[in-house]
Amino acid sequence: MRDQIYIDGRYVASASGEMFDVIDPSNREVFHRVPAGNAEDIDRAVRAARRAFDAGPWPRMSGVERAAVLRKMGDEIAARISEIARIEVQDNGKPLPEAVWDIEDTAGVFHYYADLAERFDQEAEQKVELGMEGFSSKAVKEPVGVAGAIIPWNFPLLMAAWKVAPALAAGCTVVLKPSELTPVSALELGGIAERAGLPAGCLNIITGFGSDAGAPLTEHPLVDKLAFTGSVPTGSRIMAMAAKDIKTLSLELGGKSPLVIFADTPIEDAVEWILFGIFWNQGEVCSATSRVLIEERAFEALMERLVAEAQKIRIGHGLEDGVLLGPLVSPVQHEKVLNWIETGKKEARLVTGGGVPPGLEGGCYVEPTIFADVPEEATIWTEEIFGPVVCVKTFRTEEEAIRLANNTRFGLAAAVMSDDLDRANRVARAFRAGIVWINCSQPTFTEAPWGGYKQSGLGRELGEWGLNNYLEVKQVTTWD
Ligand code: NAD
Repeated sequence: MRDQIYIDGRYVASASGEMFDVIDPSNREVFHRVPAGNAEDIDRAVRAARRAFDAGPWPRMSGVERAAVLRKMGDEIAARISEIARIEVQDNGKPLPEAVWDIEDTAGVFHYYADLAERFDQEAEQKVELGMEGFSSKAVKEPVGVAGAIIPWNFPLLMAAWKVAPALAAGCTVVLKPSELTPVSALELGGIAERAGLPAGCLNIITGFGSDAGAPLTEHPLVDKLAFTGSVPTGSRIMAMAAKDIKTLSLELGGKSPLVIFADTPIEDAVEWILFGIFWNQGEVCSATSRVLIEERAFEALMERLVAEAQKIRIGHGLEDGVLLGPLVSPVQHEKVLNWIETGKKEARLVTGGGVPPGLEGGCYVEPTIFADVPEEATIWTEEIFGPVVCVKTFRTEEEAIRLANNTRFGLAAAVMSDDLDRANRVARAFRAGIVWINCSQPTFTEAPWGGYKQSGLGRELGEWGLNNYLEVKQVTTWD
């Protein structure tokens, strides 16, 4: 495991001279220490990225040449899935099979953007039809410049890939600031990039806290674009800081996503997707379907099965066989979620869970928790909990379900289940959310756009939309 930051193609110590502890949430013990990056480190990293962009070969290479580097990065990540997945388990707490998916996806994201970089050579220039003769015009896509990427802790390396891969594919250079809670896997990317042939300065990685490293990156005048994933309050602060220099900005923020279940849904399908929608990754998922709306006449039978299945979920260390729910990411997050549960007990009916599983008191574990009869104004219904806690409510009509689903300041994801596909599609269209699932919840595809309406964000990641995040469009018009 790396214990230095990565600037201008070299692993180096932080100018702060300080390190901070990285905690294993399964036992609350320190398992590693990484540099506490500061404004001076960020400045060195941004200047390296600026030089690499302004004078280096990377933005001037063809898409095919950039693709070769990205593909090699994906290949090395794919070859090291088991090793890197184990780092994620120790750092984040998630069960090993889920960490393996993350790293498989991470490799896939690099391979996907390698393909898009290759296509870019043909698609970078587009003829524009003018309504006047005597001139010809084209729209040319160019890399936006130096990108600052700030990411959260729930999918540590995958969230890095969602930003680093399209930014590099576009020809940008990058300064990456991973979450202070899960900084370990991201540091590996430096060596991986170097071995793949990425020129020095194109990728820089600074570990550290939001205030000491994230804020200086956000405010740095030589950064052209900021790509942020995290909470709404931090996103709002970053937007305000970016406003000073009119930096280009994309934001992937929080959610409180609904899952609407009509009575004609097969009960076992409903149970499966409710459980996956909220308990996958310990519920620490921005798109988690944490508000479940069940048609009233299906409520009792469905709840009975749901509670029985939730109680069977095996909780434990992420490396143990058969574990489906690991510890939450940190003692602070653990405390936060337990406090939400205490609030929930005053606001609604606790159906199952609600505590620390017996025998697992040494780690940051929380039982799968279900609240029912949750009033619409309850804070557990309106606020993002970011843990294995689901709120259930009933509805009588399609109109009521849509109104309840959309009555939120968030708009990241929404899901609907029904045997009647016309109805499901109608509801899907009515949702005010950037990602909509029909008869499932959570599947995520590198090719499809990802992002939120309302306070859940700005812009879209993944797919070709993710690449466009890192491109400017230049009009070039000639007098013929
Ligand atoms: P957070 O906002 O606390 O931190 C995210 C990142 O921002 C961290 O790297 C942190 O160090 C940095 N940061 C904190 N203060 C900063 C500042 N003043 N300036 C610059 N950077 C700063 O979020 P978190 O707790 O790490 O992640 C959980 C949140 O992320 C949830 O709200 C979740 O919904 C959201 N999320 C969204 C998506 C999505 O795709 N929409 C994906 C994953 C997580």
